[in-house]
Amino acid sequence: MMGQKQKPFEEILEKLNGKKKIVLMGCGGCATIFRTGDPVAIDNMAEKLEKNGKEIIAKIKLPFGVFCCYLPMSSQFLKMHEKELSEADAILMMSCGDGTQAVRAYLDEEMSIVKPIFSANNALGFVGEGPANFIEKCMGCGDCILADTGGICPLTQCSKGLLNGPCGGTTPEGKCEVDPEKDCAWLQIYRRLEKIGELDKFLKIREPKDWGQATRPRRLSVEPIDLMEKLKELKATLESMGV
Ligand code: SF4
Ligand code: SF4
Repeated sequence: MMGQKQKPFEEILEKLNGKKKIVLMGCGGCATIFRTGDPVAIDNMAEKLEKNGKEIIAKIKLPFGVFCCYLPMSSQFLKMHEKELSEADAILMMSCGDGTQAVRAYLDEEMSIVKPIFSANNALGFVGEGPANFIEKCMGCGDCILADTGGICPLTQCSKGLLNGPCGGTTPEGKCEVDPEKDCAWLQIYRRLEKIGELDKFLKIREPKDWGQATRPRRLSVEPIDLMEKLKELKATLESMGV
């Protein structure tokens, strides 16, 4: 998921300089996990902005599981708030930049609502684990090599992002020379390949990645999911778990 932290309030306030009527919009995906776009975060932001003279004309709270970056779901909430969005001087997105830009594009192109819009959060890239502690696992290189590295990504776990390691600086205790707090990623890769009987892969030279394949923005096309079917599946799963 997309790790994120809220920007300092002073920075948010400065970006809203000269704007009076504000719409806040959250996200029921990653921003809820990181408490940067859940209903409580929205209420807290509204309170602070109101104390600083802003008028919050709508708080668009997305329930858990409704990602603002996934327009088939989030656009329903945008349509429900068309009047307030049209009247707003600015829209403050309590989501990552991905969700913010998806909403911006929908408002511009589908609803003809062209407003100043920005994210209250700083996105920090993919992170995994949880529920409280998260760590970067993948940087979305577009050419996954986990099959050759024992399921450990050297691009994100090695401080130097080496495709062929170790660098020679691993400490006698197995720590990283750049960050002595963490284990050397390439030593971890070696040990894991040894455990799964694939040490031959360790000596294989991995060619430089063709980053030219990763031009921006990346674009993907898929067969759209059947949203209602997926929601029914979720309901059935939750019921089977006694939730
Ligand atoms: S090699 Fe690393 S960065 Fe690339 S896709 Fe795999 S996990 Fe992600
Ligand atoms: S010590 Fe290990 S993790 Fe640190 S930079 Fe060198 S190879 Fe990468």
